[in-house]
Amino acid sequence: MPEPFHRVLLKLSGEAFGNGKLGVDPHTVRAIAKQIVAVTRAGTQISVVVGGGNYFRGAELQAGGMDRDRADYIGMLGTVMNSLALQDFCEKEGVPTRVQSAITMGQVAESYIPRRAERHMEKGRIVIFGAGSGMPYFSTDTVAAQRALEIGAEVLLMAKNGVDGVYDADPRTDPNATMFSDLSYDEFIARDLKVADATAVSLARDNNLNMIFFNLDDPDNIMRAVRGEKIGTLVHC
Ligand code: UDP
Repeated sequence: MPEPFHRVLLKLSGEAFGNGKLGVDPHTVRAIAKQIVAVTRAGTQISVVVGGGNYFRGAELQAGGMDRDRADYIGMLGTVMNSLALQDFCEKEGVPTRVQSAITMGQVAESYIPRRAERHMEKGRIVIFGAGSGMPYFSTDTVAAQRALEIGAEVLLMAKNGVDGVYDADPRTDPNATMFSDLSYDEFIARDLKVADATAVSLARDNNLNMIFFNLDDPDNIMRAVRGEKIGTLVHC
């Protein structure tokens, strides 16, 4: 029998919130919240880093003529809106939830204080990290790896929409793409795979943090990954 993890960090892309559209789709966010709450109720501590691609990506705004740093701040603010939506649905499911923002905004979120985040989780609360790192030129994948390390998560769960794991080519465009059941970080980097950004991958590799990539479209997958079942792709040192 696989052992469940005690503490995990879940990375959700902005794509997961918008159901393919701009903004937040409440039905979709409610469904994700139910999964996260189920994990907490089963006794695993969980925190979440949320992306913001359903609102804005800095690189896309830059391509439209904006300065990259200001565009990235807009991107980070988008992640806070997703965080608040997820907090709302987690609390509607009955579990106290705290948002910690890397950009100070005291009316809506606590500041990022890692030890306080750990304490929240010990008390059975869900913690959501918003506003990325608070710094332009980073991605929320990298923040997910950093937060996972700092709060002592045993694994980084990389939930993806529409793909089951890490493939040797893009499965959405290449019918011959095959999925890895596991692969090392060195191989991941050597193959220049794009499913997570390179900074996140090297941070995880250098600090012995495993990642599991899996499909968020299956409503049981977060729980299955937390239970230690073999799903998706394990990327390891
Ligand atoms: N961002 C940033 N610094 C960070 C995290 C995010 O500047 O530490 C900005 C960046 O512009 C990024 C946007 O926020 O494009 C949304 O985050 P991301 O693209 O990682 O979201 P996802 O692809 O996971 O939805």
